[in-house]
Amino acid sequence: MNVCRVRILDIPVDVINKKRAEKKVEQMLMENKSHTIIAINPEKVIAARHDSTLKEALENADLLLPDGAGLVWAARIFGYNGIQRIPGADFMENICKIGARRNCGVFIYGSREEVNRKATQILQKRYPRLRIAGRCHGYIDEEKMDELIEMINASGAIVLFVALGSPKQEKWMMKYLPRLNKVRICQGIGGTLDTLAGYSKRAPKWIQYLQAEWFYRLLREPWRIKRQKALIQFAKLVLKEKAR
Ligand code: UDP
Repeated sequence: MNVCRVRILDIPVDVINKKRAEKKVEQMLMENKSHTIIAINPEKVIAARHDSTLKEALENADLLLPDGAGLVWAARIFGYNGIQRIPGADFMENICKIGARRNCGVFIYGSREEVNRKATQILQKRYPRLRIAGRCHGYIDEEKMDELIEMINASGAIVLFVALGSPKQEKWMMKYLPRLNKVRICQGIGGTLDTLAGYSKRAPKWIQYLQAEWFYRLLREPWRIKRQKALIQFAKLVLKEKAR
């Protein structure tokens, strides 16, 4: 299945909807190689313009989910109308459903120990048929990384979720995925485990519907203002490019 990949401010993103993205996941599971899934939002677009390693990770990803209302807005401005917002956090659960149906082992790496444990329990409860092959918090020293790689390989996990925040998780995936010989799908999930475990709240459904989740997040976590400034920069650059 071919997915249309476009560039927004010279950063790639897939013009895709949830149904096609799920089909793509099914296809990835059948192929005997590893694939990366990364969510793209305006903040990441701005970061990747100044971070060549992050950009490389995005260029090489197999599925780039259009996360963030700002990204969908920009895509439509450039005429890419088939695009639908797919929050990475939601899509993780879609992958869990597919994994449960296909009996694929899942490994959950990242976040604080307490968050990781709680989120794993919640996922297991929500998807009783999901086979959790293993889990590990995200504060492993670089010297202990070999042990973690061995642990993931020994678990036989086919799906790996990496919750280290961006750009750490994308860089980790690019560096270590070649050593994970059984993993076929690796998704970067940022702060999703914190949300699942109830440590950080997602916006109510009506705010999500209004595509104003970014604003809700800013109100709850004002210290993110610096990161949110990237949104304004993103909008300015998009309008400038469109005018050109
Ligand atoms: N994190 C981690 N190890 C690190 C740094 C961060 O496991 O060395 C985790 C952190 O505990 C949190 C997540 O990565 O669960 C980052 O969440 P954030 O919402 O900042 O990520 P974003 O979705 O914005 O990329």
